[in-house]
Order: sequence, then C-alpha cells, then structure tokens
Amino acid sequence: MRFGAGSFNADAKGRWYVNLPVEVTCAEPKPERVVGIDLGLKTLATLSTGNKIEMPRFYRESEQALATAQRARKTKRARAIHAKARNRRKDFMHKASAALAQEYGTIVVGDVSPSKLAKTRMAKSVYDAGWAGFKQMLSYKAVRHGGRFVEVSEVHSSQACSSCFVRSGPRGLKDLGIRRWRCSDCGAVHDRDANAALNIARVGLDTLAGGAPLLDQAESLIGQIGEQARSSAPSRPS
Ligand SMILES: [Zn+2]
Repeated sequence: MRFGAGSFNADAKGRWYVNLPVEVTCAEPKPERVVGIDLGLKTLATLSTGNKIEMPRFYRESEQALATAQRARKTKRARAIHAKARNRRKDFMHKASAALAQEYGTIVVGDVSPSKLAKTRMAKSVYDAGWAGFKQMLSYKAVRHGGRFVEVSEVHSSQACSSCFVRSGPRGLKDLGIRRWRCSDCGAVHDRDANAALNIARVGLDTLAGGAPLLDQAESLIGQIGEQARSSAPSRPS
C-alpha cells in the first residue's frame, strides 16, 4: 500500500479531516456474478436476488430529529444532526458497497427516478447525495475488485414483468403503495423492488458490450428468479 499527497477538509460542523489517496493493488478478476440493484428510501438497495439492504434505524430517527430542529429553526442543532447522520450513513454505505463488490463481478444500478421521493418530506438533495455517494462507492469498489459497474435508466423497471417483459406492473404515483403484484399476463408474482432490480440487471447486461456469454447469463439469472417467483406464488385461481 502506498500513500500519496493528502489534503485537509472541514465538514459542516467545522471538524477537520485529512484525505489521503492510497494506492492499492487491484484484486484478481472474479467469476462473473451479476446483480441488479434498485435504490430506495427505507430500503437502501433491493437486489435482483430478492435480498434487501435496509437503511439502519438511526437514519430514520435522525431524519425525524432533523425535521423537528428545522421546524424550530434551531440551525446549529440541525447542522450537528446532519453531520452525524451523514458520517454514519457514509460508514454504513461503505460497508454495504464493499460487501456487494466482493460478491458480484458485475453490478448494475438504476438511475433513481424522482417519483421515489414523492412519499417523503425530506429534501430531495439529501437523498440525491446519499444515492450518488453509494453509487460512487460501488463503482470504485467494483473496479478495485476487478469487477464492473454499470448505471442504467430505470424507466419502466417497475412496470415491466421481469418474467415475460409485458408492462403489467404498477405505474405512476397512484400505484406507489403497491409492494407486491401479480402479472396479469404470465401470472408471476413479484416483489415490486426485486422485480425492478431484475429488469435493471437485464438492461445493464444488454448495454454492456461483449455480448453472448453475458446474455446467456442474463437468461439464466432471469430463469432463476422466475423460479423463485413461481414457487412463492399462491396457486392461481382456475
Ligand atoms: Zn409476466
């Protein structure tokens, strides 16, 4: 490990940090495991495997404390809460992104649609900053581990059924509350975010150059998840 020339920075609370660029050896390229990630609010990330990374509770608590302080116009207190929450969030995201970069060789993330913010009172900029930071961490950690990071448009990722590709899913603001749905076309039952993550993974694989092996992989990935969805689905009314 080698250290480069550093710099000093202060945070919102006036605390000083030293930033040191560190040269690390890149990991060996790893076996091709692909994951699609749907970013969210309370659930930071839903994976195409169906796994979810929940935001720790402290984040919601500090959200409320921050809102209270802001309403009371306690600027100094608001700044302190903000700085603390940001540090803890950063720490949490570092750990989560490191674990993902270790496990997956190809990480595909959706650009976050503004409709996700319709249900929160928090400033859009707060979430934007969090998501941007998380994506950046994923990106450089993936590269460090010999993997790839792709960001794709998440248009239609919630609406399209990841099993048959028909747009039979929830759409628009009115359907934001729908967390689980059944495809009217093929009958597959989906967790809203896992289905979106799966579509994101597919779009990512489509956009990556290099083709055939990746497409095979996308199909097997989609096959696997389809199996999961079918086996967890209640029996269809005849
Ligand atoms: Zn379907």
